Amino acid sequence: MKKIHSFTAVLLLVFAGVCQAWQQRVEYNIEARLDTAEHRIYATQHLRYFNNSPDTLTAVWFHLYPNAYRDNSSFFAREAEQQQDYRSRHSSPEDKGWIKINSLLVSDSTAVFKYGPEYGVPFIRGGRADEMAIFGDYGGTHPAVNKKFKEPKYKLDSTSASLELPIPLAPGDSVDFYFDFTVKVPKFFSRMGHEGTHYEISQWYPKIAVYDAKGWHADGYHYIGEFYGDYGSFQVGLETPKDLKIGATGSQVLEYDDQGQPLDDIAGYHLFAADNVHDFAWCADPEYIETTEQHGDIGITVLVRPKDKERWKNVMQYAKDALDHYGRWYGQYPYPALTVCDGDMAAGGGMEYPNLVIVSTGEDQYTRTLEMVVMHEIGHQWFYGILGNNEMDQAWLDEGINSFSEQRYFEEKYGPAGNYLAKESLRKLLPEASNRNVGRMIPYLYSANRMDQPVDARACISGEMGQYAASAYMKPAAMMWWLKGYLGNSTFDRVMQGYYRDNQFRHVGTEKFYEAVEKYSQKDVKPYFAPWLKTTGMSDYSVASVRQIKEQRNTYSITLARKGNLAIPAAFSAEDAINKKYDVLWSGRGRDTTFLLQTDGKLVSAVIDPDNVLLETNRWNNCRPRRYRVTLGPRLPSFESYNMFWLPVPWYDNVNGFRLGTMLHGAYLADGDPMVGHHQWTFSPFYGFKSKEISFSFDYQTPVGLRPRPPRAYLTAGSAFDINYAGIGLKRTWGPRLMLDPTESFDLKLDYTRYKDYRFWDPRDVDTAAVVSLMAQRGYGLTRHWGRSSFLSRITIGYIQRPESDINNYLKFELEEKLNVRINKHINPRFRLTVGYIQGPAPAQEQFFLAGSFKTTGLDNMLASGKDWFSTQEHYHVDGGANLPGYYGTHIRGRNMWAVNLTLPVMKSPLSLFAGAGQVSNDWLEFTAGSIRADAGLSLALGPMRLMFPLWINKPEEGKKQFDWRWTIGFGGSGEGMGIKF
Ligand SMILES: [Zn+2]
Repeated sequence: MKKIHSFTAVLLLVFAGVCQAWQQRVEYNIEARLDTAEHRIYATQHLRYFNNSPDTLTAVWFHLYPNAYRDNSSFFAREAEQQQDYRSRHSSPEDKGWIKINSLLVSDSTAVFKYGPEYGVPFIRGGRADEMAIFGDYGGTHPAVNKKFKEPKYKLDSTSASLELPIPLAPGDSVDFYFDFTVKVPKFFSRMGHEGTHYEISQWYPKIAVYDAKGWHADGYHYIGEFYGDYGSFQVGLETPKDLKIGATGSQVLEYDDQGQPLDDIAGYHLFAADNVHDFAWCADPEYIETTEQHGDIGITVLVRPKDKERWKNVMQYAKDALDHYGRWYGQYPYPALTVCDGDMAAGGGMEYPNLVIVSTGEDQYTRTLEMVVMHEIGHQWFYGILGNNEMDQAWLDEGINSFSEQRYFEEKYGPAGNYLAKESLRKLLPEASNRNVGRMIPYLYSANRMDQPVDARACISGEMGQYAASAYMKPAAMMWWLKGYLGNSTFDRVMQGYYRDNQFRHVGTEKFYEAVEKYSQKDVKPYFAPWLKTTGMSDYSVASVRQIKEQRNTYSITLARKGNLAIPAAFSAEDAINKKYDVLWSGRGRDTTFLLQTDGKLVSAVIDPDNVLLETNRWNNCRPRRYRVTLGPRLPSFESYNMFWLPVPWYDNVNGFRLGTMLHGAYLADGDPMVGHHQWTFSPFYGFKSKEISFSFDYQTPVGLRPRPPRAYLTAGSAFDINYAGIGLKRTWGPRLMLDPTESFDLKLDYTRYKDYRFWDPRDVDTAAVVSLMAQRGYGLTRHWGRSSFLSRITIGYIQRPESDINNYLKFELEEKLNVRINKHINPRFRLTVGYIQGPAPAQEQFFLAGSFKTTGLDNMLASGKDWFSTQEHYHVDGGANLPGYYGTHIRGRNMWAVNLTLPVMKSPLSLFAGAGQVSNDWLEFTAGSIRADAGLSLALGPMRLMFPLWINKPEEGKKQFDWRWTIGFGGSGEGMGIKF
């Protein structure tokens, strides 16, 4: 009965599929001339459009994509700025691009376009509330995404436009459009562009939007999100300067003159023809070196520029391997030609067009990135090209299946590890760097931070690139791995081959995919796929307990738990001491399940999801016994293990003499926004041979709660340089996006500090009493086209144990603004403005120091000495205080402070000029113009280190010179150590 039932369902589905299976057809005939002096294309286009729909069309929509580059008001330009990509904004008018329709005839009548949102183009910015509300569970993205983006006033985006037809187009009829148009080719801001006489021409002609059962898909050109086109034929004649070599969609049609010479060679005219494709793109370069090889029925052409020739030597082989793998997995490549072009496009490492891929990465000696990009883009010939999904609405059907195929390719070609690294020595060092693991870091980040979006979210509403990479690429790649495991390899291949065969040269959507799964596996995966597609549910399974039942040997009671809200069948595997395996499939229904397992030998391991097909937010709890890994030095985290490393740290300072110590570190994944790890600690003990003292520092932090970008609870303690300290705090960073500004932060910390005596500390810098303080700090960071601003405010309430004094409490206020201003490409000054005020008897160490911060944190903590020449008031500089490094050695400090610091990087070199002015005093009344202190000098960034030469100060001490040879050393390579690069 059941079988018949599902059979009927399949029949109905197939029948329904047939009913809806109309799609429009296009025939494009384009003649284009490229002017390389003006970077313009002059073209005529005849489009014959066949209405195969059951509807009479009174108007049609066209994409006029090159208008994305017209000015800073296009969707693309504004969305680029949201993504902190200011290339378009900072470009000059002659670098911009556009399309101009010089004339348009529809059949015999002239027609004009209507542009813009008032004609029905949906205006969508990153994450609009009503867009996201349709998704269940967490309601899509972190609510802040929606809150933070204010709807701007409508402005015209002229990348799509509608056109009223003079005569309604009846079902079964066709209409002819005759365009005369000009395209100005921009510099590279996205996909179409030129650099000198190198051209990549895509989304360049008036392209009719897709009309399907859901209506018109007239999406504009967005910063994130790709395309959707109608299938048909293209005949494109390209007239270019003679020396340009061309790669294009389709196959070149050679024409001959009277002497039998190919016309192509004489006039720089190239004619291309393609059938069963939905777009036409081309690239051109006078320097292209062409290699052509016949691979079975397919002619492969590789076009490479001389500068990349050496790095591209394997590309032909990669192309063949990609064609072979995809052909074997899914079905044969059906076109006669495929071209791989070396490009500069600026929207990722590569881009796919029918029969043509543009790759803008080169081989590096460390990774297999070039191979990955080449095979990924070629894979799009199947998923995008031959099966034409709407990339804006359901990008998972091309990017997701493709990313899965990419990982599968690596694992088939390079062994189960699928290592992404090219060098044998690196692979040994980082065996975890498999393509699959590396790819999973992105969805992990978004999922663990509760900032991901559903797989099915429209691409253009992604708050940032990473979010799109997670939802369109990496999450669905995991879905495909899961599906492969769930169906078994051979059924999975049958499903994919059937999906491909049944839908060649047709539009596909998620329903078509479900249909194929059901038809070829008799399984309904919709209930498992839907939560992935429609919600941001997370997967977290664990082996909660494994208990041996005492009375019966080798009988175990096993409890599996589901902590995530994604309930999908999960494989469980156990192994006993005689290497026998026991497999169980848990439906994932309910929060947990307990079952008995009878084994032949003693159970040695139990794992849920042993094949690593689920996108687990915590894999450590997947294994029993829990796995621990200890390494010398840091390594890529293993998702399965709690990772620990140790590192010997020898050092020297005046007080301790030669120091020998070690850094011990442990964490389940590294923790620190945006990375969400767990139970991270660092313990660094050392011994000073001169001081004969043992010192140590200890830090611990872990995320708490399940909020988006979770807060961290942290703990610090130590005894170093004869100081005892302990602190406990809570900090959080948040913002609408994970990797991009604006960000806000909050930090609350309760501290206890006691400097014990003056053996290790300079009495000018510290008071030896015990101090308890409560600090609250607020930060705000913002990036705009003019630069970056970060603002910090801090209030500290402190208590100092001073039996001789009546007043023990103090209050400290600090404000700091750092501005990184982009004046132009070459001039990026950085400013720092700060004021500080203390009321009450704050201990010396809490006061403001003129030369820089007295206090150290992190690495400085370990390296700086407490007193003498390598202390922070001598030759070791830590940013903070009034930050006038020229005054090192003066130990000037006070309860009131203001300062202005300026750093000017010299033409992108590691060299910067810096200058500063400010005052530090115990009394505001001492702040007179005559008492302002200033310094100026040079700083040199050497990797993470910074050498500063404050050669001039205005108020040297008695007997010292204004100009003198002075130096300090510190960390933070960007001159003033503001840590911001623009
Ligand atoms: Zn792709």
